[in-house]
Amino acid sequence: MTPLIVTAAITGSRTPRDKCPHIPILPEEIADSAAEAVRAGASIVHIHVRDPITALGTQDAGLYRRVLDRLGETGLEPIVCLTTSGIPGRNLSYEARFIPLEFRPELASFDAGSMNLGDGVFLNPPDFLEELARRMKVAGTKPELEIFDFGMIGNCLRLRDKGLLDPPLHFQFVLGAAGGVPATPKALTQLVELIPEGSTWSSIGIGRGHMPILLATLALEGHVRVGLEDNVYYRKGELARSNAQFVERVVRLAEETGRPVATPAQAREVLGLGRADAASREV
Ligand code: ZN
Repeated sequence: MTPLIVTAAITGSRTPRDKCPHIPILPEEIADSAAEAVRAGASIVHIHVRDPITALGTQDAGLYRRVLDRLGETGLEPIVCLTTSGIPGRNLSYEARFIPLEFRPELASFDAGSMNLGDGVFLNPPDFLEELARRMKVAGTKPELEIFDFGMIGNCLRLRDKGLLDPPLHFQFVLGAAGGVPATPKALTQLVELIPEGSTWSSIGIGRGHMPILLATLALEGHVRVGLEDNVYYRKGELARSNAQFVERVVRLAEETGRPVATPAQAREVLGLGRADAASREV
């Protein structure tokens, strides 16, 4: 059985403290929460940074540097996946979205198409995706292909056919976003059937979809993403205390089903990543 890669999505760009008192905001809080999630079993940490004053997402390179340095000091060496969405729906400039690639992360998010997202429009037009794919190639960063709806898989395959995305592709299915594919096991199964053989995939169930998608993913032998970016409730009516709390539940479920949980080194092997020092390397 392929070891289970658990990604912890630490903070995202929007959830305010009054909705979730434990959401990490300061760079030190983000790094410490990521380290705690890795100690609990996560092998990938998905990182956004927040403006310390407004608490909203920002693409400030200095804040990313502080997170990466502090995480580097722990000696844990998780795979770091930095965001290139910035703030979904706010439509930052392309250049702002590319900023995290300066750190040459092993993975970065690649939002594979435009969509209505809640009250806004999340713009990822073809020219942006082509430029993002080129920049990731230059940085040596593997794209984590965020799939919010079926058509986005086709967008990725067209970029692959143009030579801009290199197989094996790694998909992250995001189910249950307002405007995206619904968070049902049936939809997840159909998504998995559409990706090329040899691809790897992981999933996220947003909000109420969290547990159904998590359990379906374990049954289908995919990988999983959990964390406060995607869910602030641990269960109905109970706010989550930490990112690690979500990771601990996945680890328990994996143990019950006999699935080993991947170490960062094993996750690198599964995803074909070869640069263990990338996230902490000076550029
Ligand atoms: Zn994100």
